[in-house]
Amino acid sequence: MKSQTQTKTYSNYVNNEWVSSKRTREVLNPFNGETIALVPESSKKDVDTAIAAARRAFDSGPWRDFTAQQRGRILFAMADIVRKNAAMLAEFETLNCGKPIVESEFDMNDTANCFEYYGGLATKIHGETLPVPDNALNMTLREPVGVAGLIVPWNYPLMLAAWKLGPALAAGCTVILKPAEQTPITTLEFARLVRESISDLPAGVLNVVTGDGPIAGGAIVESMEVDKVAFTGGTETGREVLKGVAASNLKKVSLELGGKSPNIFFSDADLDAAADGALFGVFINQGEVCSAGSRILVQQDLFKKLVGRMKEMMPRVVLGNPLNRETKMGPLVSKEHLEKVEGYIEIGRKEAKLVAGGRRPSSKELKNGYFIEPTIFESDNKARIAREEIFGPVVACIPFKDETDALQIANDTPYGLAAAVWSRDIFKCLRMVKSLRAGIVWVNTMQPCYVESPWGGYKQSGHGRELSLHGVEEFLETKQVHINLSERPIGWY
Ligand code: NAD
Repeated sequence: MKSQTQTKTYSNYVNNEWVSSKRTREVLNPFNGETIALVPESSKKDVDTAIAAARRAFDSGPWRDFTAQQRGRILFAMADIVRKNAAMLAEFETLNCGKPIVESEFDMNDTANCFEYYGGLATKIHGETLPVPDNALNMTLREPVGVAGLIVPWNYPLMLAAWKLGPALAAGCTVILKPAEQTPITTLEFARLVRESISDLPAGVLNVVTGDGPIAGGAIVESMEVDKVAFTGGTETGREVLKGVAASNLKKVSLELGGKSPNIFFSDADLDAAADGALFGVFINQGEVCSAGSRILVQQDLFKKLVGRMKEMMPRVVLGNPLNRETKMGPLVSKEHLEKVEGYIEIGRKEAKLVAGGRRPSSKELKNGYFIEPTIFESDNKARIAREEIFGPVVACIPFKDETDALQIANDTPYGLAAAVWSRDIFKCLRMVKSLRAGIVWVNTMQPCYVESPWGGYKQSGHGRELSLHGVEEFLETKQVHINLSERPIGWY
């Protein structure tokens, strides 16, 4: 694999061609800080060229005449190339973002599942006929929203690209896809595979541009030629996206933003399952998960036992080279992100009680990587480590008295992406499900995510939903058509 990634140079993918930019950006392997690729540092002009290609392809290209079946087949072909190249793509994903290889393999399977789901859905998009009180036929047509800008973060690079690309192409949009500056490799490799294997995809339908957020992403957000932005990233960046949209053409927007999700354990929860679910809920993918259960709420009489069991189990969260199959936690994505997470650990040391972790690992093998030990604090819900999204392996454990108290603490956050509740009392679980202000609520588990089911946040965790039937809605317009069936004049004048 190393030979494949020795400072490979990539270009933007525009109009089915590889197009270089004047400037390049280094892409690093977070395990050792080495440069593994050079990618375009796209200027606004570079991005505008890609937008123009997508605009032409949408307005006048052959894509307009593609039937739903043909669009579906393109998506099945995309699923096929991901499945056939899953091992290679998973290795690139791990080299680029640091997640354990076993997790990257899961991601590639989910990426292919997502393309398959939307390939099947392409032929099920249709309007309605409506019973209006007149001699008329009234119906709706579902049409693609147009040129869609897809802006993706670094924590699940190719999978989150698929969450947007699948529904966008199923709907009939053309796209400009911008991966995060830290993790563009699998998206560019995917574009290469598409170019080599899917010869019937018309030019300009899929465009990939890399580069800086405010410049390359900003060019998409502020373009008058883009009809829709599907954005996943931080809540503060989401605010910037909305400002750019408001200042330009009021394009449609969907936002998948941050979270500070509560993972809630009542005292009747099974201790082993609870400790396992608490650790899995927050430490999977280095804690770089939007729905991470980064606030662990535990009923008072279980609190010491559960936190103690979690501490005992910490050696099982094995830090290591993410290409090793035994590794359970790789490096964080970048030096800047490591420093941000360490900054929060320092804040936590002052405002809360450190239970475990909190340091960079001392082993020689890991010394050049952006590693941090998984970290547990005992805290209250007022601490900054319990309120702000850290997006790393740091968790605040917070005790609560009873159901009312649990609910109050759980909902006391500006975010509303996800929540989980653990108890053997199904009545209590269901009361919590109804009252938790979050887009996803798990019962006696945390984190499973399925393409068949909607994903998205309440409150400052976002606008709109991805995945499932809801996901394609974000890329569709609805046109009402009213056909008068009477030839009589209206007779008003
Ligand atoms: P980020 O907001 O820094 O960047 C996300 C993307 O936006 C990147 O491609 C970046 O280049 C681009 N960008 C940055 N500034 C921009 C601007 N001004 N205009 C347009 N684009 C811009 O986020 P990140 O650090 O890459 O990812 C972490 C965040 O993503 C976390 O907050 C996490 O919770 C969130 N996230 C949410 C979900 C979800 O489904 N809700 C999923 C994954 C990640």
